[in-house]
Amino acid sequence: MDKTISQIVKDTPNDMELGKKIRELYWHTMGMGTNSFQEEELDSTYLEHWTCDHCGKHTHEVDYDYLANGTNHLECELRLEASQ
Ligand SMILES: [Zn+2]
Repeated sequence: MDKTISQIVKDTPNDMELGKKIRELYWHTMGMGTNSFQEEELDSTYLEHWTCDHCGKHTHEVDYDYLANGTNHLECELRLEASQ
């Protein structure tokens, strides 16, 4: 898996695109590697990553059009920018 990730990182200069590819790879790998889907264990690691830095809410189900800096809400980023 690590080799694939480094390959994707090299091939993908766009962070947004990179995040999407890594997420797809992650779910693909998890799906391949486990017979029984361990939802709880999966969620804690996965959701920990997909958290907005500004409001602390999970962003794994947020559409990419509404995300900024990879895992933050675009809305939260814009609000922060506006307040500066
Ligand atoms: Zn947010």
